[in-house]
Amino acid sequence: MEKTYQIGDKSFVLDEEKAVRAFQEKKVINGRKSVAFNLLPLKYQWAYDLYRNMKANHWEPEDVPMQKDLEQWKSDSDLSESERWIIMMGIGYFSAAEGIVGDNIQHVIRELVTAPELKLVLGRHAHEENIHADSLLYMISSLGINPHECEAMFEQVETILRKNEFITEVSKNLRRDLDLTQTANKQEFAKNVFVFGQCMEGMQFYGLFGMILSLARQNKCPGIGQMFRYTLRDESNHIDLLRQLFLVMVEENPDIWTDEFKDDLLGLMKTAVQLEKDFICDCLPVNSVGLSSEEFCSYIDYIADRRLNGVGLDILHPGLENPFPWLAETIDVKKEQNFFEGRVTEYQKSSSLAEVADDEL
Ligand code: FE
Ligand code: MN
Repeated sequence: MEKTYQIGDKSFVLDEEKAVRAFQEKKVINGRKSVAFNLLPLKYQWAYDLYRNMKANHWEPEDVPMQKDLEQWKSDSDLSESERWIIMMGIGYFSAAEGIVGDNIQHVIRELVTAPELKLVLGRHAHEENIHADSLLYMISSLGINPHECEAMFEQVETILRKNEFITEVSKNLRRDLDLTQTANKQEFAKNVFVFGQCMEGMQFYGLFGMILSLARQNKCPGIGQMFRYTLRDESNHIDLLRQLFLVMVEENPDIWTDEFKDDLLGLMKTAVQLEKDFICDCLPVNSVGLSSEEFCSYIDYIADRRLNGVGLDILHPGLENPFPWLAETIDVKKEQNFFEGRVTEYQKSSSLAEVADDEL
């Protein structure tokens, strides 16, 4: 029997029996392993849709003008010492963090999942981390920053080191050939997906995002601000990807969802939040440039609760409101289409712009 399957406006005629079997054999983990990239029939439609959406939001660093940033960077009066420190921190932290995420996506998550449409969207995720890493090189070269100074940020700032240790701890033992029929191993993998998606990309990125976008809001380093806005939009897709992946994995593997495991995850988020708050105090030792570290810490609590809630865990601060409502507007890329003259908008197909996760903050 033949049956027609529809994906968007494309249709495919498949042998029904084969298609049903392929569908049933698709799982997040422990599904059918095949070298052929059998996307059809799609089981995880959301993953394919997300892939299309991510692709439609493609951007390239060189499309963002950096002249204004360079002028300000060279001037003695346009940027204060603490503003320069924030920019250096941002470039230094993300230069390394993007690589850590990309590596984990490629060598842990994409290796361990079995359904092709999940591998498809995770490949795009890894590529976006490459774009982000490349955008940081572009910032470094445009401003004439010494790359070693940025590297040093990652190696010498104690609070960054601790964030890094926390993250790599859940990644290093999860390479190829992990036996995912064991509940404990499945939990380790789910923990990895949670920590990378919800604790790191979902929360620990947001301290610096907020600071840099706050500078951009005051017209300081607008090119860098623009790239961080695009990066943040990409990150909101990554957070959503890893969130949905996590939820489906729990649904398909109810054995992992124990009270003890939920407590573990909550504990990891608490640790991650503390590390981020320590880091924020390093970045904002004094309440300068119109930013207060207390507000930032409460923003971090707010973001952490959104992430916990997104994966069905208890939140830590019920009733807490977003102390930075302006940030939600700042990243609303839709609104700035007319202001921004670069070529970036040409990559964006109108349909996908409607999908920008402007409620992500
Ligand atoms: Fe990234
Ligand atoms: Mn990311």
